[in-house]
Amino acid sequence: GKYTKEDIIRMVNEDDIKFIRMQFTDIFGQLKNVAITTSQIEKAVNNQIAIDGSSIEGFVRIQESDQYLYPDLDSFTILPWRPQYGKVARLICDVHNPDGTPFVGDPRYVLKKVLKEALDMGYTFNVGPECEFFLFQTDDSGNPITKTDDEAGYFDLGPLDRGEGTRREICMTLEEMGFEIEASHHEVAAGQHEIDFKYAEALQAADNIMTFKLAVKTLAQKNGQHATFMPKPIFGISGSGMHTNMSLFHDGKNVFYDENGNKGLSQEAFSFIAGLLKHVRGLCAITNPLVNSYKRLVPGYEAPCYLAWSASNRSALIRIPAARGQSTRVELRCPDPACNPYLTLAVCLAAGLDGIKNKLQPPAEVTENIFNMDAPTREKNGIASLPGSLEEAIVELNRDELIKQTLGDHVLTQYTLGKQAEWDEYKTRVSNWELEKYFIAY
Ligand code: GLN
Ligand code: MG
Ligand code: MG
Ligand code: MG
Repeated sequence: GKYTKEDIIRMVNEDDIKFIRMQFTDIFGQLKNVAITTSQIEKAVNNQIAIDGSSIEGFVRIQESDQYLYPDLDSFTILPWRPQYGKVARLICDVHNPDGTPFVGDPRYVLKKVLKEALDMGYTFNVGPECEFFLFQTDDSGNPITKTDDEAGYFDLGPLDRGEGTRREICMTLEEMGFEIEASHHEVAAGQHEIDFKYAEALQAADNIMTFKLAVKTLAQKNGQHATFMPKPIFGISGSGMHTNMSLFHDGKNVFYDENGNKGLSQEAFSFIAGLLKHVRGLCAITNPLVNSYKRLVPGYEAPCYLAWSASNRSALIRIPAARGQSTRVELRCPDPACNPYLTLAVCLAAGLDGIKNKLQPPAEVTENIFNMDAPTREKNGIASLPGSLEEAIVELNRDELIKQTLGDHVLTQYTLGKQAEWDEYKTRVSNWELEKYFIAY
């Protein structure tokens, strides 16, 4: 690792740090933390900070509620948006049981398990996410309203783009925190933005996604805006995705690249794609976790709805960006930024590895715009669909043995219960659409 316990204690004392946020993520992807003061730093680095797991959604029952936070020392960083006098740092933590064993309901542990499996096969897993989000206005009391902060579109600039100031602050702040920012731009929809940071090994990539979301929300709020990662905040315009670019490395070399292979891709790359296609209906409840997620996965907004891959076609679920060599990668386009990134990367990797272990072959590439194909044509071409709703996704999740096993009993059970309850709550609500459609007509 980068830091020892002594390094952390020294940095805390030398850098005028007053608080340390001990962070972790619940199974539904919510970032949680407890702040300790510097007087407790020795306890913290020795894994002695306890939490009441029974108060965290999907964690444990009240009878077995003591859990301990084991900080990942390399995640130490100062939160630049907190005061510069009496600073605040954070440590991302694993959650453990009182007997020292890892807690099976900790999403970071779920990801670590699959990463270990990949490593046993000789692979490290690199991930570059593309997180999209919206900036909305706030009212005089600072509460969010559903009016986008601008009317700009793809790659527009100021004065049309009213998010440039916030995006600039987000980029600079994340760089201070050690991110390498690659690109930042206005997205297609009014009020919509994207900021891309450099790929990293999967565990760090997932940590980075959590940090990114916190920074975006915090800095937007500082500027009187409301940032949301809700997948489809407005009907009729693009939603927000989290395209996930994935590659496997062996001995520092990208194994998806094969100079002599079809399209410059290796057998492993094709099998990884085939594995993703085989399991995507089962893992969709993880990558697309909300009732609202399925309102994004409809034709016409550059979001996928059909199971196909292509070297360039943006209507396909899986795209292979043009770059080759070390940058060769598979882009899965269904995930949205409301997902739990630890669980998302765990199930995607497990699906891809399943493809490699079983030498699966993907179907032929689809080069036409699938959104223009009618249902019989899709059927003739063997193109299936993603689940159409959270309800369908939960059923599919519970049918996929590999994905169930990857999540483990605890997470699977808690996740299914939580998401089923969310669906049941939704399905009995009377929406504005129903009133518009039926109230006068009937
Ligand atoms: N917003 C689109 C989505 O929902 C992606 C647009 C793009 O980045 N090309 O996935
Ligand atoms: Mg992009
Ligand atoms: Mg984009
Ligand atoms: Mg993309």
